[in-house]
Amino acid sequence: MFPQQPTWSNSRISLMQRCPRAFVLRYALAQVSRHHERGEILSIAFQIQTPWILLHQTIREVVHDYVEDHVNGTVWSNGLIGSRFKMDYEKAMQMRNQLIERIQAHNHHTSFQKRQPEQHLIDMGIKTCIKLTQHPVFQNLLVQGSIERIELTTPISYGRWKLYSAPDFVHHGPKGKSLIKLNLYGLPSRNNRERQAALTRLYGNHDSTVVLFSLKERKWIVNRITPMNNQVQESLNLVANDVEKMESILSLVGRNNDLSLIPLADSYRSCMHCNVRFLCPSQHGLEKAKVEQRTLMCQ
Ligand code: SF4
Repeated sequence: MFPQQPTWSNSRISLMQRCPRAFVLRYALAQVSRHHERGEILSIAFQIQTPWILLHQTIREVVHDYVEDHVNGTVWSNGLIGSRFKMDYEKAMQMRNQLIERIQAHNHHTSFQKRQPEQHLIDMGIKTCIKLTQHPVFQNLLVQGSIERIELTTPISYGRWKLYSAPDFVHHGPKGKSLIKLNLYGLPSRNNRERQAALTRLYGNHDSTVVLFSLKERKWIVNRITPMNNQVQESLNLVANDVEKMESILSLVGRNNDLSLIPLADSYRSCMHCNVRFLCPSQHGLEKAKVEQRTLMCQ
């Protein structure tokens, strides 16, 4: 049904855990039916992000551009960081509003509302960028050795899988190659940090250190991890489990993209912020939709 290469990413497995149906819609049907109206609407709907997510995506983009210019010999002032952040965030919010308008033009009512950029979020984003660019560990990485940016959408092939766990930057210093990763949505637990570092190491050498900058309560926390080979292997074993579960869910899609065997979310909380609730039977109540689905499955 879906002949594409088995693909693992943190966002794929997290979405599948929250809701198998949303996972299938996003990573299978939106792609295979992108030339049809419904597929196009799905793709647009999944591109819509909350202002909070856009804030953090903009922080990442601005820091990436800051580093790239630094490598080329141009060091941005704090004023330039501020104006770049404001411009990029306003543009991201404008694009979000346009996506919402496109969905509305198809007579669908998403739960997303058009919004204007809020000044307090712009101020927060600027401060966060400045704190990172002035962080002594980050500064050291910029001035010693060389550094290059990597797009997060850069996959790596492992056996027959495609894996996404790219660092934000690769640093070549006197002690070898380090991989720098920004965690913008909090400090992951120790286990999750180790797992993340082990998969990120696939983009470096066997002895590469992974430097994690995690944003917790608006402060940057730094962790350095040098994953051992056995940790990398354990993380890959977990990826294998995840890939198996994703393949098994995808195999339940019936002919003509029938989704009646694909489970809905376990909890209504997942539906509350779902991008495609307006296309889902659960828009009239998750429990009612589940009962209807169970009836269909017993046919
Ligand atoms: S609305 Fe709920 S059940 Fe439907 S796809 Fe979204 S998360 Fe899943």
